Amino acid sequence: MPDAPAQGDARTHDPDALLREFVADRDAPCPACRYNLRNLTADRCPECGLPLTLRVGLADPAWGAYIAALVGFSVGLGFCSIVGAWGLVEAFFRHGVGRAIGFLPLVLGVLACGAGTAFLLKRRHAFIKWAPSARKGFAVLAWLAGIGFPFLFWAMIVR
Ligand SMILES: [Zn+2]
Repeated sequence: MPDAPAQGDARTHDPDALLREFVADRDAPCPACRYNLRNLTADRCPECGLPLTLRVGLADPAWGAYIAALVGFSVGLGFCSIVGAWGLVEAFFRHGVGRAIGFLPLVLGVLACGAGTAFLLKRRHAFIKWAPSARKGFAVLAWLAGIGFPFLFWAMIVR
């Protein structure tokens, strides 16, 4: 009993020892190469050689809605900025300023999707704390904007 607390203290304060203790009696795949780290003896994966660490994570990290929203806004931002920049130059030099008004949905798309992308990148931790229904709703909104503004442009100009 007298030497138990000293040994316990040493183990709980050494992150490498905690990592080895965690995988000593359980199967855990290396996050990089999927090699089974059971009975790991160092702080590196024996298969790929990458350094490993033990961390605390969220039970439900909710990255699905975050990534879906980010991709939705990014699709709209990419399409609207590339086609919009090309189209505005084309409209001004070939067809006159009157036709440029048809590119308004793309300008609005750049503003809306750019703001959505910036919000998600800057407020990632706030987004994760939202209710699941709010996160899913925001992802749907992102895709509506990402597809809606290009569709509006198509309806006004290309059609
Ligand atoms: Zn590995």
